[in-house]
Amino acid sequence: MIRSALVVGGGVGGMTAAISLKRIGVNVDLIDADPHWRVYGAGISITGISLRAFDALGILDQIRQRGFVGSGMRGRTMAGNVLMDVPAIENPMPIQQGGGILRPVLHEILSSTVRSEGINVTLGVKVETLSQDETGVDVTFTDGTARHYDLLVGADGIYSSIREMIFPDVPKPQFTGQGCWRLVAKRPPEVDRTEMYFGGPVKLGINPVSQDEMYMFLLEHVPDNPRFSGEELVTHLRDLMAPFGGAVPAMRDSIIAPAQINYRPLEWLLLPDPWYKGRIVLIGDAAHATTPHLASGAGIAAEDGLVLAEELARDNDVAVALRAFMDRRFERARLVVENSVHIGEIQMAGEETASNTMLGATMGQLQAPY
Ligand SMILES: Cc1cc2nc3c(=O)[nH]c(=O)nc-3n(C[C@H](O)[C@H](O)[C@H](O)COP(=O)(O)OP(=O)(O)OC[C@H]3O[C@@H](n4cnc5c(N)ncnc54)[C@H](O)[C@@H]3O)c2cc1C
Repeated sequence: MIRSALVVGGGVGGMTAAISLKRIGVNVDLIDADPHWRVYGAGISITGISLRAFDALGILDQIRQRGFVGSGMRGRTMAGNVLMDVPAIENPMPIQQGGGILRPVLHEILSSTVRSEGINVTLGVKVETLSQDETGVDVTFTDGTARHYDLLVGADGIYSSIREMIFPDVPKPQFTGQGCWRLVAKRPPEVDRTEMYFGGPVKLGINPVSQDEMYMFLLEHVPDNPRFSGEELVTHLRDLMAPFGGAVPAMRDSIIAPAQINYRPLEWLLLPDPWYKGRIVLIGDAAHATTPHLASGAGIAAEDGLVLAEELARDNDVAVALRAFMDRRFERARLVVENSVHIGEIQMAGEETASNTMLGATMGQLQAPY
């Protein structure tokens, strides 16, 4: 079995891979380009597949304590009237639940697990050069150091530099036509589950992220891919929220500064099979960056890390293990990326019922074991 691995990128995918590899006896170094290893302060929805992966990683209890985990869902009209109330399930399994958490809190849970496992973390460093043969990968780093590893895991996100180095000709991430607005606010007790608002000009939902906070996500059709600066963020988001009732007006009133708002144009990328070359493998957004429509990007990134370690533990031959990894991962990632993009397209065409049907059907498919 491999004895050493370098994980490039300490997001959900990289940290899950690092923890899982360490637990099968691999010496793991993890580097992240960000000297402060920060994540931006938005909420993230955690669907059943993320919860199941976090359970396998042993951090589900912490997610329950510091985030919000529940089941059931509430549908509202744009005015805020309740259309449907799907009750919570009794004694649900993690895969049957969902919830949300603040990204910095999820990062803190994962990064403290990385540190407590004894993984060697170096921040503010990137890979400068790579060369490999059948025994492993020689890496030089931007801090002037160099090392040989049996395996390199590229988990450096949608704009992956490791992908650029090993697959320079693959298409770049593509803009979908939608932008995603996110806002965190105090949570009133009555917002006790995911709430979706139907029938509006934009797609809006609210998810609890802790005992007293919630976050709103709002998807807007922005074909010209505009940039919003400073005050424009505030005025534009307030305009988009104005027609909505329910919990939205209080959230809207809470907006006082651009720093509260996170806006991202949506992009996607699906690297063709294989995601590896020799002893270098890509996982997470570096291989399959998705839009948030199925709220499953973090879940499949975490699954990648778990499956990679499982297959490396199963077979001493790295080439066999990486092939087996691909066989378990490609179709699943394709389902998430392609259906997420398609749901966005249907939303942009104004076909809300069709987009909800596809969302429900895909969520059902994803319940299958990873
Ligand atoms: C607007 C939006 C909303 C989303 N909402 C959800 C949601 O609700 N639920 C969900 O499950 N998913 C959601 N996603 C998707 C999810 O955020 C990603 O799929 C997930 O974070 C991917 O994790 P990752 O570890 O692969 O990459 P990342 O989280 O991007 O981590 C990459 C890491 O690599 C580091 N890095 C970058 N370049 C280098 C380099 N050259 N060298 C070293 N380190 C480097 C970065 O600093 C970072 O720490 C959303 C995505 C978007 C765009």
